[in-house]
Amino acid sequence: MARTLIVCMPLLIACASAQKAVPPETSAQKTVPPEVPQQTAAVNPFFAESPLPLHYPPFDRLHDSDYVPAFEAGMAEQLKEVQAIARDPAPATFENTFVVLEKSGRLLRRVQTVFSNLNAANGDPAMQKIESQMAPRLSAHRDEIFLDPALFARVDALYQKRSQLGLDPESNQLVERYEVQFVRAGAKLSAGDKDKLKKINQELSSLTTKFRQNTLKCTKESAVVVDDVKDLDGLTAEQISAAAEAAKARKLEGKYVLTLQNTTQQPPLRDLKDRALRERVFKASVSRCVGGDADNTSVVARILALRAEKAKLFGDANWAVYTLEDETAGTPQAVNKMLGDLAPAALAKAKKDARDLQALLGQDAKGQTLQPWDWTFYAEKLRKQRYDFDDSAVKPYFEINRVIQDGVFWTANQLYGISFKERHDLPVYQPDVRVWDVFDADGSQLGIFIGDYYKRDNKQGGAWMNAYVPQSGLFSEKPVVANHLNIPKPAEGQPTLLTFEEVTTLFHEFGHALHGLFNKAKYPLLSGSMPRDWVEFPSQFNETWTREPKVLANIARHYLTGKPIPKALLDKIKSAENFDSGFKTTEYLAAAMLDQSWHQLPATEIPKDGSGVAAFDDLALRRDGAFFPPVPPRYHTAYFSHIFSGGYSAAYYGYIWSEVLARDSGQWFYRHGGMTRENGNVFRAKILSRARTEEPRVLWEKFYGGPPRIEPLLEWRGLTQEQRVGRRQ
Ligand SMILES: [Zn+2]
Repeated sequence: MARTLIVCMPLLIACASAQKAVPPETSAQKTVPPEVPQQTAAVNPFFAESPLPLHYPPFDRLHDSDYVPAFEAGMAEQLKEVQAIARDPAPATFENTFVVLEKSGRLLRRVQTVFSNLNAANGDPAMQKIESQMAPRLSAHRDEIFLDPALFARVDALYQKRSQLGLDPESNQLVERYEVQFVRAGAKLSAGDKDKLKKINQELSSLTTKFRQNTLKCTKESAVVVDDVKDLDGLTAEQISAAAEAAKARKLEGKYVLTLQNTTQQPPLRDLKDRALRERVFKASVSRCVGGDADNTSVVARILALRAEKAKLFGDANWAVYTLEDETAGTPQAVNKMLGDLAPAALAKAKKDARDLQALLGQDAKGQTLQPWDWTFYAEKLRKQRYDFDDSAVKPYFEINRVIQDGVFWTANQLYGISFKERHDLPVYQPDVRVWDVFDADGSQLGIFIGDYYKRDNKQGGAWMNAYVPQSGLFSEKPVVANHLNIPKPAEGQPTLLTFEEVTTLFHEFGHALHGLFNKAKYPLLSGSMPRDWVEFPSQFNETWTREPKVLANIARHYLTGKPIPKALLDKIKSAENFDSGFKTTEYLAAAMLDQSWHQLPATEIPKDGSGVAAFDDLALRRDGAFFPPVPPRYHTAYFSHIFSGGYSAAYYGYIWSEVLARDSGQWFYRHGGMTRENGNVFRAKILSRARTEEPRVLWEKFYGGPPRIEPLLEWRGLTQEQRVGRRQ
């Protein structure tokens, strides 16, 4: 799990190929729309559709100075278009309201898509400045649209009589999605409640910023200072010199500083031999942001109170109810059940592994009990004992071109009949970027695929997918989608050899790409906004094929000799994939449960101030049966940024929810004959091509015909009793 979670965590939204359709969170300011600046396509490429194939972006003609004028003109243009709908004297119709809304803001969408993608993949300081400058203005722009009472009156009138409009199912879904977005943005509230909501949103916006800034500050300040290099025994020379550098940067010459990362567990704990120092590092990590000048506990108490108040404005019992209404899960009960069903297997494996680790600890420190700061240290020892291999033995068998052509593309061809042809005539923003035409089984062009695989200093970390041109039936546009990874670039003339984790990431991101390429939605709103607990389903599903023997036989060949990987090594790789999965699943589930516990509290039970906040975690986990001290939650409340400043409040469970769907779909394929075109066609028709043209829970039901089972995920992660590695139903 951790692999795919880590891959996607930094950039889930982008990774999810979703353009955010975010309801307004801040107050709307009524302004007179400025005149559209008089720039033309001759000077600013954003002012016209790209003349390149499929409107592929003209990367060679883009300049940083083009963005702001295009953003400004794009917002002004969209506001004019939207206000014209609201003021239209003709009675509201589907065409003159929803279709015109969908057609509005094309210039804005064009610049926004290219800007956000390039800013992440190939950014520069000027772009970062533009980002900060435009963020509040874009947010106010959305508010002006979603809180416009005249516009909502038309939307709502049509929504109320939608059954009499003779709409096709997708158009009906469009009407329903717009209604939901307007309503969730507050369009239906009374004037007084709208004012309350604006105030709540404003305060929440500053509090979540405060939480983020506090977390940065206390994480930095909680770094552990070490006086004597001898205490760092176990770290590599590079790690030690990094610690010396970190000390220098803090004017602590001659000392060593172990900096913290955002999770509870810290990377040096795996290597540090000094148990007392491990304990210091761990305790510094978990006590972060509780008390002191960057205290988050009081911030959390206030955020929770405001979220509860906001949920109440919408008539919901708590924040989780309000959030989950718009997710695939639907209700807190469904989420609780899924998490509660998964936890026992994960905990059982963690407890079993704990006994092995305890035995190893006993050899070093007689009579001592296994503590959380011992876990990764002894787990690494055990891993080396059990699966004695390292990356250098594996990588010669996974050369990037073979993995892409004979693995990722070949699999897509077997399943869906599509093919790929690399082209070199289109401009790229960086010489390493590669471009392929993608053809459907009948030979027609499906889209363009961009592969940007190497790590660069100006590229955001992690891996993600995005669409430069989203598919849209309304505009007859075919998709231009891109995958981004951070694979270290080899020296000139050397081959790019991958770890098995990087191979899996290639398949994962390509699963998102297929979701974008196969999309058949007519309306942009339905192709662009996916629930958080659905977006990672196609990508995690595509990882299935990294364990398919036919695929492995194709790709796992020595880059010099072409000889297949030795079976013994392949078996070790497969078994090692699930090593420590009890720990990884348990720490994730514990954090997901904490998120739910906080956001399912009724307003009356939310702590009045920070004093009750820190103690809540253990109590809640005990109640949920997930309290196991050697495996603490991946994040404790005081530094749980995903849910208090990262947009995942009451939705952190989404990663594993989509993985349950993904693993069960993998087994569905094997129950129906495995990697075949027939199965691929069904999955494409019922899931991959559908975007949000129906609600995902309906799409799932129509594909699968019942609720998903958790057993396939347990099996995939090696959490079942029998540990049937590699065996399929
Ligand atoms: Zn992903």
